[in-house]
Amino acid sequence: MSIEPSIINSILISNRGEIASRIIRTCRKMGIKSIAVFSDADRNAPFVEEADTAVYIGASPPKESYLDAAKIIATAQKMGADAIHPGYGFLSENAEFARQCAAAGIIFIGPNPEAIDNMGSKSKAKALMQAHEVPVVPGYQGADQSLEQLQQAAMDIGFPVLLKATAGGGGKGMRIVHQVEDIDTAIQAAQREAKSAFGDDELIVEKYIASGRHIEFQIFGDQHGNAIHLLERECTIQRRYQKVIEESPSPALNEVLRKEMGEAAVKAAKALDYDNAGTVEFIFDDQSQDFYFLEVNTRLQVEHPVTEAITGLDLVQMQIEVAQGMPLTIEQEEVKGKGYAIECRLYAEDAANDFLPVTGTIQRFQIPQVDGLRVDTGIRSGSEISIFYDPMIAKLIIWAASRQEAHRKMQYTLRHLLCLGTTTNQAFLLKVLENKDFQLGQYDTHFIKNKIDLEALQNDALKSAELASIAASVYGWQKRENNRQLLRSIPSGWRNSFYDYQQITFLYKEKEILVKYRYQQATFEFLLADKEEKYKVQLISATDQALQLEIDGIRHTFQFALDNGNYFIQHEQMGMIQLKEKPRFPDKGGDKLEGGYETPMPSQIVKVLVAEGQEVKSGDGLVILSSMKMENTIVAAEDGVVEAIYAEEGKNVEAGFLLLQLV
Ligand code: ADP
Ligand code: ADP
Ligand code: MG
Repeated sequence: MSIEPSIINSILISNRGEIASRIIRTCRKMGIKSIAVFSDADRNAPFVEEADTAVYIGASPPKESYLDAAKIIATAQKMGADAIHPGYGFLSENAEFARQCAAAGIIFIGPNPEAIDNMGSKSKAKALMQAHEVPVVPGYQGADQSLEQLQQAAMDIGFPVLLKATAGGGGKGMRIVHQVEDIDTAIQAAQREAKSAFGDDELIVEKYIASGRHIEFQIFGDQHGNAIHLLERECTIQRRYQKVIEESPSPALNEVLRKEMGEAAVKAAKALDYDNAGTVEFIFDDQSQDFYFLEVNTRLQVEHPVTEAITGLDLVQMQIEVAQGMPLTIEQEEVKGKGYAIECRLYAEDAANDFLPVTGTIQRFQIPQVDGLRVDTGIRSGSEISIFYDPMIAKLIIWAASRQEAHRKMQYTLRHLLCLGTTTNQAFLLKVLENKDFQLGQYDTHFIKNKIDLEALQNDALKSAELASIAASVYGWQKRENNRQLLRSIPSGWRNSFYDYQQITFLYKEKEILVKYRYQQATFEFLLADKEEKYKVQLISATDQALQLEIDGIRHTFQFALDNGNYFIQHEQMGMIQLKEKPRFPDKGGDKLEGGYETPMPSQIVKVLVAEGQEVKSGDGLVILSSMKMENTIVAAEDGVVEAIYAEEGKNVEAGFLLLQLV
């Protein structure tokens, strides 16, 4: 029997941001028409312009646009799309959506819906893999979910154990339990969390691999029963169980292990009749060198460019080809990894504040010229990082002949990339790259927590902030100088007494930096409060965007972006520093209200859980917030009565918004 390939001439991309742009690139290459869909927040996004056609599909909250399956399918039909590419996240792992596409005569570019279903539940997935002799983490994934049974399971496995929501994903809903005394409360809390996050309180219990590495294999299948793997990606560098840096090959594997794990991954693919791109995730025990199946992600992965870099393959093209019924054009023996690749995820997030996402407008985004650098991004200068979507700004991917060279070039990239306008993890990423253990490949999933000194990062930043304050002072001086119409010959800041110092106070986070300077004979003399040393500063050149200064004989270039009185200043060695000039007559900031609950970051108010006058106990949920894919419940810190509620469901509010008041 021959399978007639159905031909894909146009693809609707039911996603946004960098992955939409990425898919459009391959469509162009293949001569396929690309159709983007977009929400209000994405009206000005690059992917909307890049697509051959773009269709507005609704408001910014994902439920009203990128997650609205019916609207997306109707749009695909209206626009005559042959296929839908779901990207990652959103509808990509939704079997029902895949079925609806098929029913509407549209090809879903992804695996068959049964494979998605089978992997959607962690318990089903493990049972199936066990049946096919793929090693799974020792544990319990049964139907009996009684407290006694789960307790017993934990005791049989031995502590520490990991509780996971069967329906969980995205690193959410996991809990480590170290000792038997804690198991009851942990199970009950995990069940409650799972219920509220995933609508299902079923748990699995697993042995916790104390020193584990996350190593995953890219798999590919077609509709003719072929399945191969495209080597591994090392994704051990994580925070909140989510990846930030990925590389390949993994420094932990030798050829024997690679072969064994690759074969296990292909076994997993075959067990699922897998017929598109997927990823088999393993947890690798550094001590015993054992590896265990974690899950299969039934979609294109965020970090797929790492695999593309070392194999030279275009995974999106392969996805499109196999989705229209073509057999894989490459065999296992032909898959060869060449050189080394590493990806860093640049996020709008604050490493110093538990890596919480932040919003903002990217005033300037500029990529340095580095040999072997690929940047996948959904933004450009002027783009806004909104509360509605993932805070990822860009993926930086370096390919080089050796791991050392790739790391060196990545460091160079991180030092020279300009991303001004919001807090990012750029300096944090550089800190990881500079770490000796990281360079030696000796790390586990706790690396960030154990090995990256966030406090030192803070202290470095404070020192840099002082240097940045000098630059900001000169920048301001130069601006005033340019604007000055009268008295051209008298320098700005001129006082009756020529030798008087001018003073400016900058705010770096909450810290005040007092800067004094005077200008004479084309040289600034700077003093920083409480410091002895003086700095001799010469202005070499200035534009609106950059200053070149000579500070005590050494040349420095500072890049600038200004937003609402905030200075964003980038310097090759010190990274990005955000300063605010302190107003001379500060407004009296009201004292924080006692018993007041505020939003920790810009958020949408999902649900108000209490009413005015209601009594609450410490730990009770008050308000559910949603921001950048994270749901966050604000809980009462103590017993009390709700006095006033300012939170309104559905409203978007800034950080620091007073939600309600307890007495
Ligand atoms: P990948 O597994 O492809 O590397 P991630 O591990 O970052 O991607 O994320 C896994 C999935 O979870 C993706 O589909 C991604 O869109 C989604 N995701 C990423 N970050 C979050 C988050 N903070 N909360 C919920 N889901 C997330
Ligand atoms: P998700 O669906 O949220 O991605 P995973 O099962 O893939 O959940 O696990 C996410 C991360 O949690 C892994 O990358 C790993 O760091 C850690 N992890 C998962 N299971 C274990 C385990 N049994 N022991 C130790 N760490 C684990
Ligand atoms: Mg996972």
